[in-house]
Amino acid sequence: MLKGVSARELARRLKGRRFESSRRHGKHLFVRTDGDLWLRLHFGMTGSLHHFKSKEKAPRHTRVAFVFERDRRLAFEDHRKFGEIGLVEDVDEYLRKRGLGPDARDVDLSTFKNILAGIGNIYADEILFRARLHPATQISALKAKTVSKLFHATRYILKKAIESNADSNRMPKSWLLPHRGKGGRCPGCRRKLRSATIGGRTAWFCAHCQRKSH
Ligand SMILES: [Zn+2]
Repeated sequence: MLKGVSARELARRLKGRRFESSRRHGKHLFVRTDGDLWLRLHFGMTGSLHHFKSKEKAPRHTRVAFVFERDRRLAFEDHRKFGEIGLVEDVDEYLRKRGLGPDARDVDLSTFKNILAGIGNIYADEILFRARLHPATQISALKAKTVSKLFHATRYILKKAIESNADSNRMPKSWLLPHRGKGGRCPGCRRKLRSATIGGRTAWFCAHCQRKSH
């Protein structure tokens, strides 16, 4: 999971450093150190951080553990290993070079109309469910009112997802996410959820509650 840095180099450059602040951008978390260096964490699909004491057992899927003073540790845990860990000297330059757009929580409505993309699969499904919009809907055919609805649904879902640490167990049962997958039922109408490959990704939705004609 290390990108552009070896385990040895990561350890060498972070040793004795202090984590001072952090900055989130999409699924990235950049952690500023006192050495003019940022630790770059990308959480992939299942990545998360867990704080523990050295005498406690590290979480099962720990990929990297940071050891702090006073027996404190921080594990970067990632069951499915789609996450990434690296070092960055300039975050803005990194984002620009990688063509990463504005964070979904920072954009205004007009910018939002132009992007409507780049949001993780599961949140895209949740946002469409909240906006009661079928995943096969053509974005270009949306009325202004529906775009606005989608915009507010995106802001709301991302805010809530961040508040619950993107942990699906902590998300409201009225959401699609806890039911998303085979055999799952719509929390609204109790009908079986359906899946379809749309735009190269698997979408889960309720064919009854989410409509194309808007
Ligand atoms: Zn439904």
